[in-house]
Amino acid sequence: MAAYHQRKIEWRGRIISVQPRTRVWRYVTDNRTHYHIGYNLFLDGTADGYERRFAVAISEAQQQSGSFSIGDEIKGTAWEKQYPEREFADYYRAGALRVLNHASSVVETSPPPWIMPLPDMQTYEGRGARMLSLSLWKTKCFPCVWASMSNVEIIWDFDKKISKYRFESFCYGPKSCKLYKMGRPRAVPYKGRDSALDEGWLDDLCTEGRDYDE
Ligand code: SF4
Repeated sequence: MAAYHQRKIEWRGRIISVQPRTRVWRYVTDNRTHYHIGYNLFLDGTADGYERRFAVAISEAQQQSGSFSIGDEIKGTAWEKQYPEREFADYYRAGALRVLNHASSVVETSPPPWIMPLPDMQTYEGRGARMLSLSLWKTKCFPCVWASMSNVEIIWDFDKKISKYRFESFCYGPKSCKLYKMGRPRAVPYKGRDSALDEGWLDDLCTEGRDYDE
């Protein structure tokens, strides 16, 4: 696994989405555990001197103190990631966060997607997630506070402690959301076996604590 030399960079931009930053641990289809570790800010702006769209990982405390939302213009510092295959955000360990301009008005939209103050980590944890179609995550679901792109670790050889890494899209929103589509079942590989398929029953387990409309 390649580790890169890390540099601290400066960035600034306009927020186009804020989503929970999550880590998922997969073991065949016996276990899918979600960890809720902060938020990803998605921005259009400049990072390390280049104009681009990028994502910066921030902590729950940073989001709570800044109340960042879509349309805000902000700036800060962050570090390049050490293991690109394990981290979806382009930068993490953000600091010196400063709001340059709060969005002048919050655009009122009727959900879906849900554009509203960000729930805390405990709320996401309690709700649980279902797999979300990647094409929906990239388009209609992208601004929704319930959408997430997870850093996924797949246990590939339990005894030798070898893992594979990838990114997967999930939804924490109401099961009744009319936009929702699971997308294709997801293969979960394990050394020396055919891949097992996560076809959705783990979604039912992960979200069994809430009703259809919650
Ligand atoms: S499917 Fe999920 S992420 Fe997409 S709009 Fe509905 S609640 Fe939000």
